[in-house]
Amino acid sequence: MTSLQHHDIVVIGAGIAGATITSELLERGQTVCIIDAASHPAAACSSHAFAIAHPHVGRGAPRLLRLTRIAFLMAEARWGQTWNQHGIFQPNKRDKTFCRDDVATYLKSLDLDEAMAKALDADEALQICGINQNGIWLPRGASLNLSEVTHGALKPHPKLTCCWNLSVARLEKVDAGWRLINPQDQPIMTAGKVIIAAALETKSLVESIDVRLPLRPVRGQLSIFSINMKSSWAPQLPHTAITGDGYCLPAKKLTDGNYQWIVGSSFDEGESDLQDWNSSDDFNREQAKGLLNYPEGDTKQLQKAGSFVGIRCVAGDRLPIIGALSQRPGIFLATALGSRGALWSALAAKLITAQVLEDDFALMARLGFATDLVAALAPARFFAGALAAAPALGALASNSKPILPSAPKAR
Ligand SMILES: Cc1cc2nc3c(=O)[nH]c(=O)nc-3n(C[C@H](O)[C@H](O)[C@H](O)COP(=O)(O)OP(=O)(O)OC[C@H]3O[C@@H](n4cnc5c(N)ncnc54)[C@H](O)[C@@H]3O)c2cc1C
Repeated sequence: MTSLQHHDIVVIGAGIAGATITSELLERGQTVCIIDAASHPAAACSSHAFAIAHPHVGRGAPRLLRLTRIAFLMAEARWGQTWNQHGIFQPNKRDKTFCRDDVATYLKSLDLDEAMAKALDADEALQICGINQNGIWLPRGASLNLSEVTHGALKPHPKLTCCWNLSVARLEKVDAGWRLINPQDQPIMTAGKVIIAAALETKSLVESIDVRLPLRPVRGQLSIFSINMKSSWAPQLPHTAITGDGYCLPAKKLTDGNYQWIVGSSFDEGESDLQDWNSSDDFNREQAKGLLNYPEGDTKQLQKAGSFVGIRCVAGDRLPIIGALSQRPGIFLATALGSRGALWSALAAKLITAQVLEDDFALMARLGFATDLVAALAPARFFAGALAAAPALGALASNSKPILPSAPKAR
């Protein structure tokens, strides 16, 4: 029998998570093999060309706030060339009172300077970002073409092997580390360390090594609307992105004088249908009225010109799962990026690389990774005995039964 090919590091999944981690490992001088069931990078959710990125500034989620801030700075630094900084406005919820000074004090208490987040009353917002609503202006907010950056991260490199059209069905422990097996039950290769970045499929891959994760699909559809220049919507269209109940990009004036405007997105829990739904466009039309505070807008004038449909992978507690699978040494996970693929993949690249290379964690601390944040992302948070096992990283959790945390309200 011919011996199987062996790679020190194998990444399963060439979406933005797997590609970004691979690129970081290559930058650190490692040799990496990346595998994907598809014929090219960014074939699934990361085919998304219109993702927005900003730090979370809402109240009542201190860990999310700290994590998204670190991740935002990492994403901004990583994707400088393709990072489309246009600013993002977050309107105040209409059922909540707004006091500019209180919000400014709150943002200051978070250590966010005005270059990162600024409280604006409606008059200021109209001047600065063309939106007549109270809210928070995030001047460094940006959008990113996930497909483009995923392809860019996997451009040819002497230490990179890409295996397309290769599906991994299960893993098996061997002396050299892990054996990867295909759906026909044939071994593909062995690997010293395996990074699983296969979104929802991560669930069945880790099940093959007797670990259960609470991952579920959340379908989303973005609508690309075409708007006639004479439409009553035309003067309302934003010059900046808006995030709130849904999000939209700045409207784009086309050469014929009409507009293209991208608005999203539906949040269909438990659904994994990739077909385009008319009901999702109608949902997005309603979100469009809410984002612009234009309740009288005639939604028939938002004509459909296209869409993007993707299936998000979401964990029970809505945080991503990033880190070493401590009860299965040599396995690392980067999944459940939810609606924050741009941010979490940048963070995953740094965190997973540090763990794979067993870096000095003082360096991670300098990047802002306190141990409580690493633990908040770690796969071990779902397992009984996780708290007891936490101080001894690498220790076996008492079992792999998942704890299903209650899900907070959907974004
Ligand atoms: C409508 C919508 C709007 C969104 N908006 C935003 C936004 O504004 N900002 C933002 O940051 N994010 C946004 N997201 C989320 C973002 O798109 C995702 O978080 C991100 O693309 C997930 O990347 P990933 O690499 O984890 O997964 P994927 O891109 O799904 O990649 C997983 C890869 O693994 C491969 N794979 C799976 N199983 C196997 C296997 N067994 N063997 C080999 N290969 C395998 C797949 O082929 C795939 O290529 C949005 C998502 C949707 C749906």
